[in-house]
Amino acid sequence: MENNTVLEVKNLHVHYVTSESAAKAVNGIDFEVKEGESLGLVGETGAGKTTTALAIMQLIPDPPGIIVDGEIYFEGNNVILNTDKENQAMRGNGISMIFQDPMTALNPIMTVGDQLSEVLLTHEKLSKAEAKKRVIDLLEIVGVKSDRYDDYPHQFSGGQKQRVVIAMSLLCNPKLLIADEPTTALDVTIQAQVLEIINNLREKYKMAMILITHDLGVVAETCDKVAIMYAGQIVEAGTVREVYLNPKHPYTRGLFDSIPKLDDDSSELIPIEGAISNAADLPTGCYFHPRCRYCKEICKQQQPPQKGEGHTFMCHFDLFSEEEKEERR
Ligand code: SF4
Repeated sequence: MENNTVLEVKNLHVHYVTSESAAKAVNGIDFEVKEGESLGLVGETGAGKTTTALAIMQLIPDPPGIIVDGEIYFEGNNVILNTDKENQAMRGNGISMIFQDPMTALNPIMTVGDQLSEVLLTHEKLSKAEAKKRVIDLLEIVGVKSDRYDDYPHQFSGGQKQRVVIAMSLLCNPKLLIADEPTTALDVTIQAQVLEIINNLREKYKMAMILITHDLGVVAETCDKVAIMYAGQIVEAGTVREVYLNPKHPYTRGLFDSIPKLDDDSSELIPIEGAISNAADLPTGCYFHPRCRYCKEICKQQQPPQKGEGHTFMCHFDLFSEEEKEERR
């Protein structure tokens, strides 16, 4: 592991096990994020994105969740082996997470200023006055006026609440920020503002970031690298440029095709046919095969290998190489 690697996930498997079933939510993923780098984790609902984030934070609800295999190194330390106390400290000072719904992070019966100050006082040795000053400074940075310090969460609009949550996530200068669909609940104009705030702060504080989203446009604007998840696996990964200019997995191609084109009058969304497989009943072979128009017999029998270096993809074939395209003509 290079020493500027903030996070390294190796062969991670997470299952949710009940007496009736075992849902294989994450199935052997590997990725790393370096200092100051941002990775977009993209996929449909049920692809395993949020489970991956919760595993990194060591917040998988157990039971029914179990990390059945793998390693998660944060600053060189395998967090799976940490004590609860060590993980609590890591969540305070090392890794922060912004959730889709800001109200999950805010206490409705405490003023915004008090709850942000409390976070600081729990994790850092500061006087109350110092904590208050730091909170007000950060609120101003994210565009919330200092006179809102004594207001309660319900007095803020959705966009303002998400700004407060962003300020809260940055209070202790985390090395890694995980943002799980941070703008999905907001309307489009506010979305752009919130993304800009996250981007500017990330650059200012040189934070690494994992942005979880189903929106390829948001990744293009915000991230250096992208990993496409399907049925708990990373089916394609690389720099945003590599993957966007030359998607190699049929699922990635399908995601791009499902975005309405500006020059297309119909602007109709062309969804990928079928639905993501049930994690409790994954198909044999390639998990994408029931939806893949290029499926061959081998795809139903054998899991595809990971191909490529840097820009990687999981498929038995290199379907969009010039040779393969020629063969299909
Ligand atoms: Fe499609 Fe086969 Fe490639 Fe899977 S391995 S993506 S089914 S072509």
